[in-house]
Amino acid sequence: MFRSHTCGELRIEHAGTQVTLAGWVQTVRKFGAITFVDLRDRYGITQLYFNEDLNPQLDAEPLGREFVLQATGTVTERTSKNANIPTGMIEITISSFKILNKSAVPPFTIQDDTDGGDDLRMKYRYLDLRRNAVKKNIELRYAVNRATRDYLHSQGFMDIETPFLIKSTPEGARDFVVPSRMNAGQFYALPQSPQTFKQLLMVSGYDRYYQIVKCFRDEDLRADRQPEFTQIDCEMAFVEQEDILAMFEGLVKYVFQAVKGVAYADTVQRMTWEDAMWNYGNDKPDIRFGMAIANLKSAFNLGGRIQATGELVNGADFKVFDEAETVLAIAVPGGAEWSRKQTDELTEWVKRPQVGMKGLAFIKYNADGTLKSTIDKFYAEDRLRGIAAAARAKPGDIVLILAGAEERTRKAISDLRLELGERLGMRKKDEYRLLWVLDFPLFEYAEDENRWVARHHPFTSPKPDHIETMINNDPFIMSAADYLRHPYANIKANAYDLVLNGNEIGGGSIRIYQRELQEKMFAALGMTEEEALHKFGFLLGAFEYGAPPHGGIAFGFDRLCAILGGSETIRDFIAFPKNNSGRDMMLDAPSTIDDKQLAELRIRLEKVNPE
Ligand code: ASP
Repeated sequence: MFRSHTCGELRIEHAGTQVTLAGWVQTVRKFGAITFVDLRDRYGITQLYFNEDLNPQLDAEPLGREFVLQATGTVTERTSKNANIPTGMIEITISSFKILNKSAVPPFTIQDDTDGGDDLRMKYRYLDLRRNAVKKNIELRYAVNRATRDYLHSQGFMDIETPFLIKSTPEGARDFVVPSRMNAGQFYALPQSPQTFKQLLMVSGYDRYYQIVKCFRDEDLRADRQPEFTQIDCEMAFVEQEDILAMFEGLVKYVFQAVKGVAYADTVQRMTWEDAMWNYGNDKPDIRFGMAIANLKSAFNLGGRIQATGELVNGADFKVFDEAETVLAIAVPGGAEWSRKQTDELTEWVKRPQVGMKGLAFIKYNADGTLKSTIDKFYAEDRLRGIAAAARAKPGDIVLILAGAEERTRKAISDLRLELGERLGMRKKDEYRLLWVLDFPLFEYAEDENRWVARHHPFTSPKPDHIETMINNDPFIMSAADYLRHPYANIKANAYDLVLNGNEIGGGSIRIYQRELQEKMFAALGMTEEEALHKFGFLLGAFEYGAPPHGGIAFGFDRLCAILGGSETIRDFIAFPKNNSGRDMMLDAPSTIDDKQLAELRIRLEKVNPE
């Protein structure tokens, strides 16, 4: 037996007990004849007490950091206790020990506050994983995994594996491809998600499927994305949208309870995509706080009042607003008290290139009811009061107003809202607010390709009363400028996203399950019949053999873990992650392969970096 207890287990009640521990040497502190060693394992740290009389061997075999040690001794009450760790009342008076393995000096300290930079820690990830901070995240991930499995199992879901070597059918992201040796010149692709397989499982009658599964997308890595990531992937047959929403808000609530001890009793709020975009400026609103956006264009006809002739209509007011495509405002609590310096700083903030606004107008709605504004030269007081009321401002608030091109201004006010929410402490880490965003558009227009693309994916069904519009209209449009007027722009999908504290944690849809509609969908996306058959013939075929109505959802498992762990970075919750350029720093992958392998695959390389 290597050990009688773990390094996190012993307490004062064990005093006098003879024990054997095994673990890693975290620190060695020598005071004359006495040496203290902190021994660490997955479960904690226990202090070992050596003294020259008992352990003369220590001089001959000095201990170093990260040595693997087995030590036997008696649990003793400590003279100087450490209330910060659970084992801090005791130490082990060592009678014998054995070095099980030595260690080179680690490249960074294996402690909560390490001196190792990101790259170094990625390269020696197996050492970084020994650190408590990382270990806590890996433990949390496992807790989320277990809770997920418990819940889904209790609801009759079956975990069914689906293949990783599949056919390349890129739609959206790029596929990772794998050359086939046995079929020279042909390639598999790694799945971007098990989407079509889970739908086929519904056709096969496995009406509740799930998997905690790797997905692969060869995207340029935006901040905090990984080329391989994990989804909780689910599908159900004989369901409508309501069934799915109920089932999966149940899952998330169960996970909150099991992992964080949080009882989420409230009903999960719902919002249409349209409302989310108008009231919060994005499709994943953080509803832990208010500050909803007021659209001053629709409320007051501010902005956008240029006639086709270029002449301002009713242009006696403020030119900047009049000429803007849109004018949006938020009311910030307490802002009436802000100093000039503070409003100047915020003006600079919105002018930064990342936000890209030309300026910031405001109305201070003072506690005494008076108004002070940067635009009072242009608008009479009743107009300013009207604007403040539209932004739901209360005495003491400041109304911040941005004007400009619609998309950019909406994004800017959304960023501003989140920034102020953060600064004012309204985005509390330990508060969880769930929100379903519903009624997404089915299509988006890809101007560069001059065609419609599926906003979610091509298997998502339109809302039942929009099916006619889809069938009866020709998707092909001549001019990109016209796309907003095309009937397809207004078709809504039977799709839903689950948003947690401003992060999309899951998304899915009710699927198309009839061959004709699926064919129509592919055609709408600009696929020829041959192309559709080549890529998705198997699915179209399956839909001819009794496909049941079905729908599903997938959760970003890494992201869910990160949020529950109070972190912004999914990488911290993945045992062996890649860096921002998609490299595994530890393995040094991707890497070249040798000529023999290339020859077997019948692949000849172009010179990537000619010398
Ligand atoms: N497969 C989809 C995705 O990865 C999710 C779903 O529709 O179930 O986004």
